[in-house]
Amino acid sequence: MNVQKLWETLHASPELSLQEVHTLEILKSFIKNETDLELHDEKNWIYAVHEEPGADKTIVIRAEIDAIPKPGGGVFHGCGHDGHTAMAAGTAAAIKGRKLGKNVIFLFQPGEEIGAGAAYCMPLFDRYKIDMVLACHNLPGYELGSFIYTENTFACASEGLKMSFSGHQAHAAYPEDGLNPAGCVARTISELMGVAASLENTRGRRLTIINAQVGNPDYGISPGFGSVSVTIRAENDEYLKVLEQDVLKIAEANAAQDGLGFTYDIKDPFHATVNDAGIAEILSVAGKSAACSWKHEEAPVVRWSEDFGLFSTKAKAFYWGLGSGINQPGLHTENYVFPKELLDKGIRIWMEMIRTA
Ligand SMILES: [Zn+2]
Ligand SMILES: [Zn+2]
Repeated sequence: MNVQKLWETLHASPELSLQEVHTLEILKSFIKNETDLELHDEKNWIYAVHEEPGADKTIVIRAEIDAIPKPGGGVFHGCGHDGHTAMAAGTAAAIKGRKLGKNVIFLFQPGEEIGAGAAYCMPLFDRYKIDMVLACHNLPGYELGSFIYTENTFACASEGLKMSFSGHQAHAAYPEDGLNPAGCVARTISELMGVAASLENTRGRRLTIINAQVGNPDYGISPGFGSVSVTIRAENDEYLKVLEQDVLKIAEANAAQDGLGFTYDIKDPFHATVNDAGIAEILSVAGKSAACSWKHEEAPVVRWSEDFGLFSTKAKAFYWGLGSGINQPGLHTENYVFPKELLDKGIRIWMEMIRTA
């Protein structure tokens, strides 16, 4: 099976995060038939190892394998992970029989979209002494086949914060007998919108109000509970913590002002994906020479988050972008399809990076 056919097969069997059963079967058979790597089956994730006696360096190339829900129902490869996976597997096939002077591990990770997959693969970092971990993402809005890089943060840290306020329920006819958090929710939203506005000129920090609630639509009741949920992001984990504390301080002060109880939960936390400056300097040369064109970007390159950030806490990391076309529909949008013309380009860049690393 060639890489184009592999991509077509993956593209035709998209599976949601942590349900990638057929995808893994397709990959296992490709690795067995088309590469000379040692395949390790870890049930919901796999890796394939190229090991050379005497090699003193070990590189991990990671590809994420999951798809996303389609607007209106169904599942589709709306983030292009079918392409990233085919490029990594194609690179594994391309090194067959070669002497590289280093060890290369191809890691196929599930569940990236829900931020839960990288954690499964962490044992890899205990089993091998890994010098660097690499990954890429296709980027709509950039010239097809171009190489995009930064020596700092590629993708932001982010988390959801649900802030809950508790008072006392009463009859809607006697609201003065209860403690209704409506005013506190309103002030909190208003103040958080002020914070959001103050962040608009930063490249990586954002606060987005995603949900708010006061009681239920029960017209006889003055409610005793309310909540405000936000998603916050920042170009590194430290800035995210600072923003988190600023947000919580506002909510907590409003709760205290009205005598309400206050609790909060953190949802879907992602580390920032931070590149190692030294490795970025070396590998960007490889990327530039193998791509059609290139663009150096200010950090962060993208405001979204990647669970690859977890790997960058374990080994020196480099995450790069592959332009998927100026007019390419955005990631996760209905008409998005990974441009298969990119497969050969992506493999060429990976090969040059393996050679250079
Ligand atoms: Zn995605
Ligand atoms: Zn993605």
